Amino acid sequence: MSDHIQRLSKSQYLRGLQCPKALWLHRHRLDLAPPITEQKQWLFDSGHEVGRLAQAFFEDGLLIDEPYRATDRAIDATNHAIADGREVIYEATACSPDGAFSRIDILKKDGPVHRWDLIEVKQSTAVKDYHIDDIALQRYAFAEAGYDVQRSILMHLDRDYVRRGGIDPHQLFLLEDCTDLAVSRMAAVPGLLANLLQVANQSDEPTAPIGRHCRSPFECDFVGYCWQHVPAYSVFNVFGGDKLDSLLAMNILDVRNLPPALPLTDRQSIDVQAHVSGKMHIDRGAVAGFLNALEYPLYYLDYETIFPAIPLFDRSSPYQQIPFQFSLHTQQRPGSEVAHEEFLHIDGDDPREDFIRALVESCGSRGSVIVYNMAFEARINRELAARFPRHAAALEAINTRMIDLLVPFRSRYLYHPAMQGSASIKKVLPAFVPELRYDDLAIGDGDTASRQYLKCIKNMVTEDEKQTIYADLKRYCAMDTWAEVRLIERLREII
Ligand code: SF4
Repeated sequence: MSDHIQRLSKSQYLRGLQCPKALWLHRHRLDLAPPITEQKQWLFDSGHEVGRLAQAFFEDGLLIDEPYRATDRAIDATNHAIADGREVIYEATACSPDGAFSRIDILKKDGPVHRWDLIEVKQSTAVKDYHIDDIALQRYAFAEAGYDVQRSILMHLDRDYVRRGGIDPHQLFLLEDCTDLAVSRMAAVPGLLANLLQVANQSDEPTAPIGRHCRSPFECDFVGYCWQHVPAYSVFNVFGGDKLDSLLAMNILDVRNLPPALPLTDRQSIDVQAHVSGKMHIDRGAVAGFLNALEYPLYYLDYETIFPAIPLFDRSSPYQQIPFQFSLHTQQRPGSEVAHEEFLHIDGDDPREDFIRALVESCGSRGSVIVYNMAFEARINRELAARFPRHAAALEAINTRMIDLLVPFRSRYLYHPAMQGSASIKKVLPAFVPELRYDDLAIGDGDTASRQYLKCIKNMVTEDEKQTIYADLKRYCAMDTWAEVRLIERLREII
């Protein structure tokens, strides 16, 4: 049994609001949580980078640099800083008598008297609902600790910021005064806090139903533990919203047990029938219509991108997708050989102009450009056109030729039970072309590709490691377009 818990930090409070059981498990059975993934660590690191830039926005602050668990020392250091007349304090710390514990990113004095603004920094580009619970708890902690709190401000990235030269923190961030929203949720804090402290301190594991809250607003660390009884294909793969909630309330997880009177959309009906029968659904007419719209030569195209929170290059914005690689398989005529071309920018600087030139040259001027999830590639081309206007006409011409291979699967022209409700190429490929596999590749998904590429251009790896990563990236991207080739062939065989 752990020590008695007298304080909850804001992250514990938010975890408890999402699910009290998650708070308890985190406190008592952290061994059940998976290790921190590289993706999650990358997100933390990105948040720290954003935090450092936010501190540059409010210069000359004092950092309360106490270890995470040294809460009393952090509170004392904050009090000393205030007594010393500091007007900007980073990681200022306070705790209410009933245990609301807060380290605010920036505590800023508002005017000559002891009034304070609380500034919470987020690496998002908008205020989200759970941010309000976050700042309500922080405001409560400081107010109950005796601070005269003025504004509660959320400071987040401005998606419209365009980098020109060095990063300008005063342009990069937007400050939103969320005082009224924070105040509106403060009255509920003491009751919620008391309940969550009680749960955290109980010796028995609390019970909690699984549901949509397990993945929202955050993916819970304990899904692997609590969802062990959920079939690989379940009502979660088919339904959402109120319909899912009502099925869960009836303890129905297996789609074989759906109430006969439950109304289903066409798509839900196709998915459920395919699962129950184990047979593929095919609308041959719709598939034929899709294939007949293809015009030779066929260009099978796929992009890889980075999307850093802090723009790396001039003329780019927070989280803007920056394409650094494409793969292109080309087939001139039906039955002719399929040729392969690729582009990978390895110079470490802005890849976009070289990318555009190579793309335009490789894609020719006629024939269908086949992509998987056109919204992605078409949007990138539009953004490239906006930032590099002299290439706009050529990029827009490519967009007019695009055909989305996602459509036959998403629209259920075909549905195979192995897709498990998803039209992602990672699910579609094993269902229709099982001999092609991503799990044999060192890089097997877009997020990993992005991180690995960033490691190279930020010189976080050796030259030898870079060469390995570049080879892995080429194999991965080429696999995506070869998968498109094989899927089209498969569609032709099926009809
Ligand atoms: S998986 Fe769901 S039920 Fe289990 S602790 Fe997390 S949120 Fe709660």
